[in-house]
Amino acid sequence: MTDFIPTRAIGILGGTFDPIHYGHLRPCLDLLQQLNLAEVRLMPNHIPPHRAAPGSNSAHRLAMATLAVEHCDELSVDTRELNRTTPSYTIDTLIELAAENPTTPVCFLIGLDSLNSLHTWHRWQELLDYCHLVVSYRPNYELTLAPEMQKLFEQVQTMDVEVLQQQKQGRILLWPSTQLEISATRIRQLIKHQQSPQYLLPDNVLSYIHKNNLYK
Ligand code: ATP
Repeated sequence: MTDFIPTRAIGILGGTFDPIHYGHLRPCLDLLQQLNLAEVRLMPNHIPPHRAAPGSNSAHRLAMATLAVEHCDELSVDTRELNRTTPSYTIDTLIELAAENPTTPVCFLIGLDSLNSLHTWHRWQELLDYCHLVVSYRPNYELTLAPEMQKLFEQVQTMDVEVLQQQKQGRILLWPSTQLEISATRIRQLIKHQQSPQYLLPDNVLSYIHKNNLYK
């Protein structure tokens, strides 16, 4: 037996958020409520080297994420990855978060597409030493795990939300949060082709995009 006495778990959604949209925000709120999380933080990351050039820089992505949560007390923005000058790997961030929250389980929230490619992440085998993974289904994506990931998944998957509060780390939960077929790529394309992405993202974020001439 461990002497771990948990406090309520927190959720972290990392992402490029270029721009942030309702496909990020609604699952955060679903998970907050349905998993009884104390809070959920959006954590914008630096654009990874293998991605296409960003549509907008870090300051814009941070500004848009901040606008998106301004009317929701339980959602906030964690700027730690943007503040670092070195490349930010999720594993480093999770180690930091686990040390800051010794009695609080950290639920790292990802979409199903991210779970499918998790085996390509830096030190992916260690991620569950520092968090639980909570995976939102995403329209147009099926669960297709690499063999090494499949093996791990079978060992640690749970369907019991209570387990995420009772254990500090180490489990994967697949969760059917609201299915929204929205991607930042589509929003950028719509704007580029002079079409409106209204109703796919918060109005204040869209106003910011127009004001700053992003994604043209
Ligand atoms: P892009 O189209 O530029 O690749 P994106 O819309 O996938 O961007 P990201 O910032 O890359 O957004 O995603 C951050 C996290 O949010 C990822 O774990 C991703 O799986 C998840 N996510 C993004 N959109 C959705 C959605 N519509 N439903 C569920 N999860 C999502």
